[in-house]
Amino acid sequence: MNPQELRNDIPLLEDYVYLDAASTTPTPRLVVKAMDKYYYKYNANTGRGAYSLAVKATEKLEEARKKIADFVNAQVEEIIFTKNTTESINLVATGLRFEKGDSIIVPNIEHHSNYLPWLKLQEKGVKVKIIKADENGIIDPGSVEDAIDENTKLITITHVSNAIGSVQDIKKIGRISEENNILFMVDAAQSFGHMKVDVKKFKANFIAFPGHKGALGPVGTGFLYCNLQSADELEPPNLGGGTVTDVLEDQFKLEEPPRRFEAGTLNIAGFIGLGKAIDYLQRIGVDKIEKHGKNLTRKLYESLTEIDTVECYGDPKNIYGIVSFNIDNINPDDVAKMLDEMAWICVRSGHHCAIPAMRHLGVHEKGGTVRASIHYYNIPEDIEILTETINKITKTEG
Ligand code: PLP
Repeated sequence: MNPQELRNDIPLLEDYVYLDAASTTPTPRLVVKAMDKYYYKYNANTGRGAYSLAVKATEKLEEARKKIADFVNAQVEEIIFTKNTTESINLVATGLRFEKGDSIIVPNIEHHSNYLPWLKLQEKGVKVKIIKADENGIIDPGSVEDAIDENTKLITITHVSNAIGSVQDIKKIGRISEENNILFMVDAAQSFGHMKVDVKKFKANFIAFPGHKGALGPVGTGFLYCNLQSADELEPPNLGGGTVTDVLEDQFKLEEPPRRFEAGTLNIAGFIGLGKAIDYLQRIGVDKIEKHGKNLTRKLYESLTEIDTVECYGDPKNIYGIVSFNIDNINPDDVAKMLDEMAWICVRSGHHCAIPAMRHLGVHEKGGTVRASIHYYNIPEDIEILTETINKITKTEG
């Protein structure tokens, strides 16, 4: 894998030092081209028309679903198209038939998208048990086990934290859920496309995925893996076109999964683009991407900690793709603005939609952190430009 050469596939990288993969990734040319082709050559609705254009659009969309399913080792019926990770999580939180007295286990460092939908269930009398990460953002599987009681219906956890980059032992927590016969949900927003995500190995009933982050698909794409055995536990979030096989005057019969969960016209071009992005990722090799990501994360962390005024969070041995940090006495948003103005560096700053995680790290009052996040297209020079610019900021502002 030659990141320097692969950068040519992404026009946006010509002008920016892009260190915000955790938010969304710049789109490779071939993904945009695949979407263009849909719009110019076979723009028709899917799953409906009998004419050849509509048949072609349907075939291309289902081809993309198959690529995605194969990529995560799932069956095509287990891939439900959504617009992002957040929608995938909400589909589970609102779709499961929770009853008063049920309990859910949720870590205290989750992104709001894997936190608020569960907190909202308290209105139905569901108990939300919040388990604490350690100071490096790691969840001890033992603490998950200890929180289980006879009413626990679901355990949910994020694979890689967007706030601090900590990587959780998903396989172990999946085994604990299975042994206790509890539903298991994983938020794979920060791992998908960066490392191998195999739904069978996670032993999860539900996994929420973005299309637009590590997988390099367009914005407006995401999906939910829902294993076939769990599909009947979920109520479809919306009903309407495409979700039924028959409608009598006062009754209807639901389609099989995934259709029953995909009401109305889908983001057809977007998923076709995501399918193309998956081809591209496979060509590069996810193992190679992960290796490169590990090396670059280490370099990023080490280079930042070498600067006296910088404090990095998390355990460098157990983070992936993300380094969260602060510069002494400078507000994180100000740092991000200066990095942009001085060297066209794109980093995220603030609370990263994870306010409880920021409180846990003790940085909430500071305005959160600055977060640099990488992917296969980042090169050591990106990190050098970042650290040089931080050194300049420290000299002028310190
Ligand atoms: N979960 C995590 C861990 C995230 O990092 C993010 C976004 O950054 C989300 C959920 C929400 O993702 P999306 O924007 O695809 O809904």
